[in-house]
This record gives sequence, C-alpha cells and structure tokens, in this order.
Amino acid sequence: MPFRNRYTGLINKYHDRLPLADDARVISLGEGGTPLIRLNNIPRALGRDVDLYVKFEGLNPTGSFKDRGMTVAVSQAVSEGSKALICASTGNTSASAAAYAARAGITAFVLIPDGKIAMGKLAQAIMHGATVLQIRGNFDDGMRIVKELADEAPVSIVNSVNPYRLQGQKTAAFEIVEELERVPDYHCLPVGNAGNITAHWIGYSELALGPHDEATAACAFCAGHCRYQCGLVRERPRMVGFQSRGAAPFLRGEPVAEPETVATAIRIGNPQSWEYAWAASRESGGWFDELGDDEILDAQRMLAGHEGVFCEPASAASLAGAMRDIRSGRIEQGSTVVCTLTGHGLKDPDVAQRYSAEAVSTVDADTAAVKKAILGRLD
Ligand SMILES: *Cc1c(COP(=O)(O)O)cnc(C)c1O
Repeated sequence: MPFRNRYTGLINKYHDRLPLADDARVISLGEGGTPLIRLNNIPRALGRDVDLYVKFEGLNPTGSFKDRGMTVAVSQAVSEGSKALICASTGNTSASAAAYAARAGITAFVLIPDGKIAMGKLAQAIMHGATVLQIRGNFDDGMRIVKELADEAPVSIVNSVNPYRLQGQKTAAFEIVEELERVPDYHCLPVGNAGNITAHWIGYSELALGPHDEATAACAFCAGHCRYQCGLVRERPRMVGFQSRGAAPFLRGEPVAEPETVATAIRIGNPQSWEYAWAASRESGGWFDELGDDEILDAQRMLAGHEGVFCEPASAASLAGAMRDIRSGRIEQGSTVVCTLTGHGLKDPDVAQRYSAEAVSTVDADTAAVKKAILGRLD
C-alpha cells in the first residue's frame, strides 16, 4: 500500500471487527473518523461542571451517520452479487444509499414520504442517480412496503433492519472510546427507527465485554457477528434516547400512528429496532425522554450560534435533552457526556428561514450605509 497514512474509511480501519469477508470489495467514500468536539460555551452557560462533547456525524461523506452503516451494508450486498438496493427513508438513508450505490455501480430505489423530506436530502438522492419513489404515506408505510417487497424482488434492503448497517454504525462508539481513552458516562442520541442507539450499544458492549463466548453470552444484537476483543474498557455508558413529542413511541409504550415533528429525520411512529433499543436502555441504566419541537430548534440554534456547529433539527434533540438533564441534575456534575449529532444542518436549510427576518437586513450599496449598519450593531 503506497499511502499508509491515508484514511480510507471505517471498513479498512476496523476490518477485524466487522462481519465482511476478507476479500470483499470495499465500497467506501472515506466515512467515519468524524470529530468529537468538546463544547465550551454551552456548558458555561448551563453553569454546570460537565465534560460535554458532540460527535459530529454530519461530517460523513453524505452528511449523516447513515454512511457508516451504508458502507458495510453495500459492500456486503455487492459481495453477495446484489445489483440493486432499496430503502424507505426520511431522507438521509436515501441520500446515503444513492451515493454508495453510485460508487458501487448498482441501482438504488428509495421510498420517501409525501412532502416532509428536507430539500438537501432529496437533492442528494436525485444527483446520485437513485430512482426516487415518493409514496402517498409516511416513513412507516414505506418501511412496511420495503420489507414486503424484498421477499418478492431481487433487491437488498439497506434500512437498519439490515444487520450490516448496525455493524458499521457501531464503529462510532469505538472512535469515541479511542479518543477519550475512556467510556463516557452518558451517551445521548436522537431516536427514530432506533437503529443507531442499538448500534452504539453493540459497539460499547463489544469493547466492554470482549469476545462473545458461546458458553456465556450469545450477542442479542449482532446476530453472532462480534469478533472484537479489546479489554480497554470494562464500563459502558448509560444510553439516553430522545424523541420529539409528536413522534415518541418509546414514551407512549407503543407505535404512534401519525408521527409529526419538525425534526423530519425522526418522524417515525413504528421503530424497527424497538426491542433492541429497550434492551440497550434497560441494560445500560439509561432512559428515553421527549422534547417539544421548540426545544429542539432552540438547541440547534444555540449550538450553531454559540459553538459554531450546525446540525440538522433531529440531531439537536440529543443536545436539547442532554442540556435539560444536565440542568436538572439528572445527569450529575462531573459527568462526561457525548451527544451524537446525526446529520448536517445544510441538509435542511429551510429551518433557517424562520430566523431570516432578524438576521438579514437590506442596506444601500454604499460604504456609509454599511458602516452605519455595522456600528449600530456593535454598541
Ligand atoms: C436516521 C436519522 C436519525 C434516527 O436514527 P435511527 O437509527 O433511525 O434511530 C436521527 N437523525 C438523523 C439526522 C438521521 O438521519
């Protein structure tokens, strides 16, 4: 290999911990290796002594964590001879599937809900050449159709019901532990279909529990794929999942028929990883909680305005929830907390529109007018 230091994605980095054949063709866009950013201004504003980090998954190649799962799922599909992918999507899965299919030279079919998809995500699916099928229904309808179809058509499902997706996504937990050289006390995530919280729990569990010994524990999560042994850490974080009030099946204890939220990426009423996510929450001593759309948008804007990190609305649910629990003391002082920022803010530029009236003012094209406007704001 000529360039040994060139980062070539998470499969090459974590090959021995992933369930791919050694000779599998790797379909990669350099995903993973995202920054773990320590927040400064927000903890200070909260007045609490916590070590608060955001894992900015919006900096993956297509702008969301979905790429971590997609590289593994698509590499596996290709090695099985698959010529087409299919997924239901609130947007980011379709963007990612479309890009990795393009990279692999195969076809992607994506089912998206009627309206309610962020502009950036749709643009990606189109530009990467996916066949976009907009269904007259929501994500849960699309998911049901995809599962039924996969038995009848020669297409590989790349939603998170595909176990290879979760295997790829677990690597975010590896990266966090490598960087912090410890396990965080709390890991907060937005929860939609509940694949990502499950995947992180798989990752942390592999680190903490070591190899899965037939005699002791068959892994409930990975369908027997764990091969990782590390011994670096023995603890696991408490997993805290946040939902939007209008799409909070984990809080209701049952599926929600008509999920509604501004955070379109988590506008899901019938999560596919229901049992796994409950297990992760229970075993870790964590919890689920819900937030109003306004709280989510406030956190998004605060993060962008005070830390320079622009995530999409759904992503901000993790931080909004963490801030609330830090303030209330449910997350104790002295804790190390990681919030996953699942996707990039540029995916959904429409939300910025609501603030544009106060942010944008029109002035004449002359220096005096601009000077006046600047000085007026510096007092
Ligand atoms: C997919 C997605 C989620 C939800 O993740 P799940 O694994 O479905 O729980 C949250 N935020 C963004 C930006 C996403 O794309």
